[in-house]
Amino acid sequence: MTASTTVRGSATTFEVRDPATGEVVGTYPIQERAEVDAAVAAAHPAGRWWAALGFDERARRLDAWRGEIARGRAELADLINREMGKPVADAKLEIAMALEHLRWASRNAAKVLGRRSVRPSLLTANHAAAVEYLPYGVVGVIGPWNYPIFTPLGSVSFALAAGNAVVFKPSEYTPGVGRWLVDAFARVTPELPVLQVVTGLGETGNALCRSAVGKIGFTGSTATGKRVMAACAENLTPLLMECGGKDALIVDADADLDAAADAAAWGGLSNAGQTCLAVERVYVHAAVYDTFVATLVAQARAIEAGTADAKLGPITMPKQVEVIRRHIEDAIALGARPLLGGIDAIRGQFVQPTILADVPEDAAAMTEETFGPTLTVTPVRDMDEAVELVNAGSYGLGSTVFSRRHGERIAARIRAGGTSINAFVAHATIPTLPLGGVGGSGFGRVHGPDGLKEFAYAKAVTRQRFPSPLPLTTFRRSARIDAVVDVLVAVLHGRSR
Ligand code: NDP
Repeated sequence: MTASTTVRGSATTFEVRDPATGEVVGTYPIQERAEVDAAVAAAHPAGRWWAALGFDERARRLDAWRGEIARGRAELADLINREMGKPVADAKLEIAMALEHLRWASRNAAKVLGRRSVRPSLLTANHAAAVEYLPYGVVGVIGPWNYPIFTPLGSVSFALAAGNAVVFKPSEYTPGVGRWLVDAFARVTPELPVLQVVTGLGETGNALCRSAVGKIGFTGSTATGKRVMAACAENLTPLLMECGGKDALIVDADADLDAAADAAAWGGLSNAGQTCLAVERVYVHAAVYDTFVATLVAQARAIEAGTADAKLGPITMPKQVEVIRRHIEDAIALGARPLLGGIDAIRGQFVQPTILADVPEDAAAMTEETFGPTLTVTPVRDMDEAVELVNAGSYGLGSTVFSRRHGERIAARIRAGGTSINAFVAHATIPTLPLGGVGGSGFGRVHGPDGLKEFAYAKAVTRQRFPSPLPLTTFRRSARIDAVVDVLVAVLHGRSR
């Protein structure tokens, strides 16, 4: 067997295979609707207990969990490597990034979500007013395999910090990583099942969407996201949608070309291109196109996909290899030139870096998520054209701009959930910043204050301090009060032009 897949071992279990070797690395139960419902039912009292612990005690336990993950990072990175194939060093980097966000969530939940007083208006000055952000109770988190720690923890950590219990359905490719995280949490919170894992295939995720959860945090492809949204519509369950992307990197004429090529290489090729925020398209000012392309190709040529010490691992999902092949073949049939790699770059489950020039804007390699170590490079006459082409796609997740003088101006015009200037993906790594997309990339945000509020609902509370001299919402309201209100409206609002 050359490549891996996650296959059913029997009707009720499935096997996870190492994508590099095909070796079985674990067998997990396929949990069905009744089991998912039972997990959610057990999570409800656990959630009430967890919420009642308060921000400080929850922070203490989340910090202890962070320590467990940090101390177990070697074992966890090895598990990530065996389940989905990324190099161990990259898996460790992913864990480091996830821990930064976990720390931020636990340290800032009280400040962002705690009760705060707000000022009433002139007509309502007799009330004290406050807003607080309360947990949904139980949050269901559905995660992908490509960043099996960083991505689900973007939802799990923030949902827990906000006071929810969580039922987590990891990808069928990385269930062991999901179970490891949950076991580590249980060591610091053994009392009740505040964080649980349910394993299985798509149907298990579907059952979670239709269960009695208060919210779903979904990260995965746009196509699955639509199915998740349809399932959540049954109970009007709110949801966070972190979906796919087709991110672009723009290189202006005044850019640091070496740094831009380094960012394009890492952004497009790392994790074998299997990154939601991966650079898939590069638009380069015509004045520096040739120099940039030569630098990029030279850098990418030194990177290889393989086992052991290779910088790139295998493609995790066998079916993705066919998507990558289709995009490359289709582009070449439409006139594209491979500057590096090409069809021959695909060898079994491994794909070597591929850079394509002259790809038409309507080719699949330009419009659909490729999720492989491929980049298209296209010259543009100016930054107006670059922005227009970047914004033409249906996705809007991240983006990168390299320019010494005009970075902010270019970034402001890009339709995407985030833009990093003169660096790749920085906005996803800074804990105070929100991460998410627009259009086909989804809606809602993880990370930062927005990520905490995503897993809580706003509740308004008022307390009448003394009777109003102008009682409005009563049948005892007199004609004199109506006349006073009329004058007030004229004074307060009638002079606005
Ligand atoms: P999928 O959409 O295939 O799967 C995502 C999750 O949804 C998996 O746990 C999957 O389970 C589950 N699922 C599948 N079918 C259903 C269903 N009908 N109802 C509920 N859940 C279901 O995505 P991948 O796992 O292949 O992940 C890659 C995708 O994720 C890419 O498109 C990538 O861009 C995106 N992504 C987005 C990120 C962001 O922040 N915006 C971050 C990381 C990835 P199973 O695996 O068992 O089928």
